[in-house]
Amino acid sequence: MSDVTDVVNPATEQVIALIPINGVEATDEAVARAHAAGPAWRAVAPADRARLMRRFAATVEDHHEELAQLETANVGKPIGESRDEVAMVAEVLYFYAGAVDKHRGATVPVAGGVDMTFHEPLGVVGAIIPWNFPVAITSWKVGPALATGNTIVVKPAEITPLTAVRLAELGLEAGLPEGVLQVVTGKGSVVGTRLAEHPDVAKIAFTGSTEVGRDVMSRASGTIKRVTLELGGKSASVVFADADLKRAAASAPGGMFANAGQDCCARSRILVQRGAMDEFLDLLADAVRSWTVGDPTDPDIKMGPMVTAAHRGVVAGFMDEGMGAPGGPVASHTAGAVPDGPGYWFPPTVVAPADPGWRMAREEIFGPIVAVIPFDDEDEAVRLANDTPYGLSGSIWTRDGARSLRMARAVQAGNLSVNSNSSVRVQTSFGGMKQSGFGRELGLEALASYTEVKNVFVATDD
Ligand code: NAD
Repeated sequence: MSDVTDVVNPATEQVIALIPINGVEATDEAVARAHAAGPAWRAVAPADRARLMRRFAATVEDHHEELAQLETANVGKPIGESRDEVAMVAEVLYFYAGAVDKHRGATVPVAGGVDMTFHEPLGVVGAIIPWNFPVAITSWKVGPALATGNTIVVKPAEITPLTAVRLAELGLEAGLPEGVLQVVTGKGSVVGTRLAEHPDVAKIAFTGSTEVGRDVMSRASGTIKRVTLELGGKSASVVFADADLKRAAASAPGGMFANAGQDCCARSRILVQRGAMDEFLDLLADAVRSWTVGDPTDPDIKMGPMVTAAHRGVVAGFMDEGMGAPGGPVASHTAGAVPDGPGYWFPPTVVAPADPGWRMAREEIFGPIVAVIPFDDEDEAVRLANDTPYGLSGSIWTRDGARSLRMARAVQAGNLSVNSNSSVRVQTSFGGMKQSGFGRELGLEALASYTEVKNVFVATDD
């Protein structure tokens, strides 16, 4: 029997479930089941595998509200965001169901025969999931893994396992064979490390912090596992004076405070061209005041609590240290009061002007604090945007089309948007540069990292 741990609702501090803390033995058993299920899953005819995945997607749609409520109760995110994320899960499964028979090999012109390539499945995939988008990020790995004929063992974050567990149940209900999709709850230091080291796990698809990603990569090296890493970020939104400032300011809270800033793509730095700073800050203050904080089950609420009390403490620490540093006047706008009573609340906070050397301007905060930093010209904007070991996301706000393209090429990040803060779409690739990781999820690009290219040459000469 495994031990159990409490799962807590961060908005109420109530225990909402007990979940097993599995150990190495249970992890090995799941990997063995996944390994055994592989050959039959791989042999399912493409049209049938696609049909099963579409049935899985439809089953998720049938349980849309249940999954959304569960995600909100476990993570504290506003119910509207949870509904969108669960809808995305179904869309991901439909998208990759459609890709099952479209990830084709090639025939290659060569001398002396016929040469062809096959995209072979890897085998058992270990998926390690963070707590901020539990069900959505699980689907980003499950969709391409299953479509390409792999089986998968998912390890959700200790504190937010509920929707992943439910998703695997729904997969079985939809007709996925036993062992094809499993979830093993437990600690990263036990279940996660075992998956990273297990000789029968062919690939680790990891999303989480850069620090843990580094550890996963080094453990995976023992068996030369394939690894994809989706890690942290310190993304910048760059606002030029010629931009539509109203639009940039109105959209800014969504770019930095969605999911209470607990978002790898959060634009936790806004770089503003000096001449536009005062007007932009006035507009931003209005936008931030309308970003309401409270009960995440209320559809009108924009922001819920931090995921745990400990994490709230980490986020609050950025204010102490950042504000204490030298660097000129600091204005902090908040969106007003956060609720009294239980819940791990922290207000949306804008710090302006912030010094690029402050910790809040350099490290991933993973909470609702944004550092607004002035710049003079395009060169300085590029230098500041790239002055980070991360390279995940970012935005460029300008009415000058040529400049938007120059900036988009110069900023070192895997996902950029122009006059928008949107980072993630099912159809387009998502992933980081530099220490934000490597490999791409979503889009057709994800299929490559769940398959191995095999080349076969057939001699035809007599
Ligand atoms: P985390 O790195 O602490 O944990 C992520 C997962 O790894 C959890 O399931 C955890 O249990 C597991 N884990 C912990 N130690 C492990 C180990 N030694 N070996 C194997 N697994 C281990 O991250 P978190 O706090 O859950 O999530 C926040 C981080 O995730 C942030 O840095 C954020 O930027 C990042 N993130 C990145 C993306 C992206 O797509 N780039 C998306 C979401 C979150």
